[in-house]
Amino acid sequence: MLMERYIEKVLAECRRQDSKWGVQNHNLVEWIAILTEETGEAAREAVDCHFVHSESSIERLEEELIQVAAVVLQALQSIDRQKALAAADGKNL
Ligand SMILES: [Mg+2]
Repeated sequence: MLMERYIEKVLAECRRQDSKWGVQNHNLVEWIAILTEETGEAAREAVDCHFVHSESSIERLEEELIQVAAVVLQALQSIDRQKALAAADGKNL
């Protein structure tokens, strides 16, 4: 039950990103940069949660982790699209 709740939140975040940015077809390095930026935001919230004990930190950490998971899914879908385009040209990604 808990897992399904988080999966739905990740999918909702993917839909939010899609409506904000459209289909994202970044290159591999750009995807890792985006993921690293989101992971950095999650790390900052974890540090705040651990050392500052702000009441809202754990909620912000959860939200940042959901964004990390959504970016991973977006990157994987983008790689799938890029592989299909490359294959159509008889190439490998
Ligand atoms: Mg973020």
